Amino acid sequence: MRANSEKVLVVGAGVSGLTTALCLAREGFQVTVVAEKFAPDIVSVVAGALWEWPPAVCGYHHDQISLARSKSWCVTSYKVFEELARAKVPGVAMRRSNFYFRHPLEESPNDLHKMQELAGKVRGFVRDRSLAERNGVSPGYGVVDAYSHMAPMIDTDQYMVWLMQQVRMRGVQVRQLRIEGLLADRRAELLDRFDAKAVVCCAGLGTARLRGVSMYPLRGALVRVRNGGLRGPRIDEAHCVSHDERRDEQDIVFIVPRNPKLLVLGGLAEKDEWDTNINLENHGPVREMYERCLAFMPALRNAKLDPDEPVRAGLRPFRGENVCLEWDEESQVIYNFAHGGAGFSFSWGCAREAVGLVRSAVQDREYSRSF
Ligand SMILES: Cc1cc2nc3c(=O)[nH]c(=O)nc-3n(C[C@H](O)[C@H](O)[C@H](O)COP(=O)(O)OP(=O)(O)OC[C@H]3O[C@@H](n4cnc5c(N)ncnc54)[C@H](O)[C@@H]3O)c2cc1C
Repeated sequence: MRANSEKVLVVGAGVSGLTTALCLAREGFQVTVVAEKFAPDIVSVVAGALWEWPPAVCGYHHDQISLARSKSWCVTSYKVFEELARAKVPGVAMRRSNFYFRHPLEESPNDLHKMQELAGKVRGFVRDRSLAERNGVSPGYGVVDAYSHMAPMIDTDQYMVWLMQQVRMRGVQVRQLRIEGLLADRRAELLDRFDAKAVVCCAGLGTARLRGVSMYPLRGALVRVRNGGLRGPRIDEAHCVSHDERRDEQDIVFIVPRNPKLLVLGGLAEKDEWDTNINLENHGPVREMYERCLAFMPALRNAKLDPDEPVRAGLRPFRGENVCLEWDEESQVIYNFAHGGAGFSFSWGCAREAVGLVRSAVQDREYSRSF
């Protein structure tokens, strides 16, 4: 095979597309990214974006194979984000992340298993029931168990800009283009137009149309409040309560420092809801989510809403079988999509695996041409 000077077309400029493009470029591929939309008009900018061990707070992970692969992607991403935080990359920080439970972990095999698995993979793990009291969680919430560890937290506004700068610095061409129709039908023409040997589709929810597959959004929203300030609390750690799958109600608590000046409060998880024009006034569940966070950590009542953008809403890209990272030999397209509520947690792991798939696809083309 010729060296990796082969040209590759990446569709999508969210965290999946840009991280994949960057990994490809670092491996010597010549990359073009095409996308209909860019930051800040994409779901990647909406994300929390807290690194979490799967299944995440808004995980809804039903496919066991995908869940197992997700763990390895998470481990890779953890290490990379840790390096990026150390290198002071804008928007990347390692902070303490606390998870609280209203039942002893021993009473929930899934929660216990998750804790036991992640304890050895993260820095600074502690299990400590008194975390709730020390961190100002309302005693009325009924926390009886808790653990915490160091975790990457991403300020997506800054990080997506950094990612774009990185790909451009590596010589990646970036073009605005909406692709219509099925990628399988458009592939030959696109390869020709961009003089590429392979196409990687990282189009998030847009992949439903590009591949002709069924996907659905899990709508989410984050309330944005000032961190610190005159009377407001200063919160430097994340505080989360996962969705209890035994309950059919919105019960997630997600309090994450986005940067020293801003906190995001969530989380909402509404299946198959497509309208992102929701806010504290027009959508009861957003107001309830906000009230839930205030009731959980009463000091937040003194935190002022961000006057410019009190709520940010977006659609997590899901499909029934969870993440898809594969080389579809029939259509000859490499797919990296449907990261649900964990696109940042998986980003570096998925991107590195996608590079391997591109290498195989390009090699295969060279091989079949030699006959
Ligand atoms: C409220 C909320 C909180 C979240 N919190 C977290 C969190 O804490 N941690 C975490 O890891 N994740 C979190 N997520 C999930 C995360 O945001 C997503 O998993 C991730 O952003 C998906 O990235 P993506 O690059 O695949 O998709 P996107 O960011 O949607 O990018 C898709 C790209 O494909 C392009 N595209 C689509 N169709 C076409 C087409 N036909 N032609 C050309 N281009 C096309 C788009 O224009 C865009 O550039 C959260 C999401 C929400 C909504």
